[in-house]
Amino acid sequence: MTTNRKRQQGQPLLLINIGQLLTLRSISRKAGPRRGADLKELGTIKDGAVLTLAGKVISVGSTKDALRDPWIRKHRKKVVEVDCNGKVVVPGFVDSHTHPVFVSPRLVDFEKRIKGASYEEIAAAGGGIRSSLEAVRQAAKSDLAAKVLAVLQDMAGHGSTTIEAKSGYGLTPESELKSLEAIREAAGSWPGTVVSTLLGAHVVPKEFQGCSQNYVEIVCSEMIPRAARRNLAQFVDVFCDKGAFSAQETVQVFAAATKQGLSVRAHVGQLSQTALAPFLRFEPASFDHMDHVSDDDIHQLAQHDTVATLVPGANYFLGLKEYPDARRLIEAGVPVALATDYNPGTSPTISVPMAMSLACTHMKMSPAEAVAAATINGAWALRVADRKGSIEAGKDADLAVFDVQDYREIPYWFGASRCALTILNGVATSCDRTFLREFA
Ligand SMILES: [Zn+2]
Repeated sequence: MTTNRKRQQGQPLLLINIGQLLTLRSISRKAGPRRGADLKELGTIKDGAVLTLAGKVISVGSTKDALRDPWIRKHRKKVVEVDCNGKVVVPGFVDSHTHPVFVSPRLVDFEKRIKGASYEEIAAAGGGIRSSLEAVRQAAKSDLAAKVLAVLQDMAGHGSTTIEAKSGYGLTPESELKSLEAIREAAGSWPGTVVSTLLGAHVVPKEFQGCSQNYVEIVCSEMIPRAARRNLAQFVDVFCDKGAFSAQETVQVFAAATKQGLSVRAHVGQLSQTALAPFLRFEPASFDHMDHVSDDDIHQLAQHDTVATLVPGANYFLGLKEYPDARRLIEAGVPVALATDYNPGTSPTISVPMAMSLACTHMKMSPAEAVAAATINGAWALRVADRKGSIEAGKDADLAVFDVQDYREIPYWFGASRCALTILNGVATSCDRTFLREFA
């Protein structure tokens, strides 16, 4: 940690005159992710205030009470005061699904898709995930780390403070471990929180086509144990779909991860439906995409804490007419999260507010549901809800200040960032140079 960051973390920070402070505080004793009607409970305080110290939230309440507080009055000179002047404050977004370790955008695929090629046709022609592999295999770790760090900083500029980051564009033991090391290196230079995921089972690389079992064996017996031994990943992910890995192979990878003490998550139901029951015994933290899912599986998921992470940026960028059926999931009691799925092929966006906007316009989620899905339920999807996803005393000081009067403007002004200030583990980073010059 840099001295500057330590100094900032050590300094008490008091945000006052918050027009709407969306705390997302716990609403019942029920532990677990938000479901059904609970998804729209934002725990809003009008004219709110938040005090943070040493990277933690110390107190949350009204500006009036904060300014009367004896401790704050006594230490007023030491406290850095931020007048939010009616702006909106939300918990820093938890972007629980991103693929930031790649070298180049995939512009050829982009143009082919515009001309009508499908996801499968692009993959069959040598595009898609496989076309990103060579550059990552060749890249120096420091170059990958620099790319990841730049993206983390951009994401913070859009209000994200916790990011899940997957490997998955190397697909050899060396290049997957190098990708995870690059994530770790970038995370060390960024004040926010990064959760790493090994996605060795992203697709079957060309050299193993026709013998995917040999590749799965490498993932299970080399990549996973090596990543676990070096503490390089908290999760193991599998892309389970046609053209990627089968349900049986997914179970194999999950079993290998569990044996090494790593938690699991999976990309499922993006292109086709897969029965989820065989995976549930591994207690996956999340099933991501979920465009195609059966009623039986929805019923089962409502009984589990596995979060359905929806990534509408992918549907948007692929130009699909259909989006995941969020209403069906929410009304059945399945916990739903929203994420960017930042990646070079299908969702090159760093913006959680954009994903929220798409959730509102194309998946009929309310702005309130979109906020909860991108904060507290994202935290559940990464198993960090004990310290992330809401603004409550004792939790990490992760906040985003939006230059709007009403939280519904966050998804409303699509394609633009209204984020003025992000506080990551107590470290303030100004996104708007005219606001809070002391942090510029
Ligand atoms: Zn993905």
